[in-house]
Amino acid sequence: MTHEPASTRKAILFCTCSGACPSMAQIDFWGLAERVRLEFGDKVEFMALHPRLCEEDGERLMGHLVDRQIQFLTPACAEKRQEKLLREGFQKAGVPMDAAHWIPISMAQETTDSVFQKIEKALLASPANA
Ligand code: SF4
Repeated sequence: MTHEPASTRKAILFCTCSGACPSMAQIDFWGLAERVRLEFGDKVEFMALHPRLCEEDGERLMGHLVDRQIQFLTPACAEKRQEKLLREGFQKAGVPMDAAHWIPISMAQETTDSVFQKIEKALLASPANA
């Protein structure tokens, strides 16, 4: 348990679930990423997409990218699933999965527009934009 305040620095790490998950069939990942880049590129440290963050290579990537000085938005599967499936990646980075460091965003049963709106809400609610 940590009591660190949330960082004003944000990053977005998309997990596209191989790009073929039926629950994400209504999402145009490339269109979404470009829209987020155009709208919020100046509000995030960086954004990245990976096809399977819960596999070994995805966890290795997280070990390199996840940083305790940055709060990570993770558009991926349902929040509860992420809590289990992204744990190893956060552990590899040595960063706690708490509200100061992590904002899970579920893309399950969503559309390009609805995920964009969730990301917008998470970014605009951040102290970086106060
Ligand atoms: S972390 Fe979730 S969205 Fe990503 S590949 Fe695993 S099950 Fe799919």
